[in-house]
Amino acid sequence: MGVRHYGHGMMVHRQIVVRIDTDVDAAARARQVTEGLLELRVIVDRPGPELPYGPGPAAADHLEPGEQWVDHEDNGVDIVAERSAYHAFTNWARPNCDRCGSQPDRETMQSAFEAWLGGPEPTVACRECDWTARAGDWPAPWPFAVGAPAVLFQNWPALDPQLLNDVRAAIGGRTRIIRVVI
Ligand SMILES: [Zn+2]
Repeated sequence: MGVRHYGHGMMVHRQIVVRIDTDVDAAARARQVTEGLLELRVIVDRPGPELPYGPGPAAADHLEPGEQWVDHEDNGVDIVAERSAYHAFTNWARPNCDRCGSQPDRETMQSAFEAWLGGPEPTVACRECDWTARAGDWPAPWPFAVGAPAVLFQNWPALDPQLLNDVRAAIGGRTRIIRVVI
């Protein structure tokens, strides 16, 4: 048996949009977001054991240009109303200061993550220039975040930026996008 090679289209993607502002009825908002995705036919109800929603007939119409839909056993969408933590795992990268571009050290970000897990969103100060902002306001293409509701597109090609924007708008408040590429 040779080594299996996976092309770009076979990468496992998880794209998560999570609200980090807490001033919302997360369960009610999660229901609204779900209804919107069902109406767009991006998702359909699925009684399976894994994810509550499967890809709908319009899922392939809402992908980033150049992406192709690939069927997997566990394509699906989960919509989480409970406050949860999301992390880019091996793709995680430290954020950059919005003023000077420098990165906090790993220990600072580890502490911020742990503080956020256990309580309100922490603030992080730049060690170079003292710019201080909430953790979720640090520019970060590969962030972690804690919040609710969240929409998780699992084993899903890269989404059309327009759909991502629509999901962010439906979730409302400040949101973070977390991409996991395994
Ligand atoms: Zn700075």
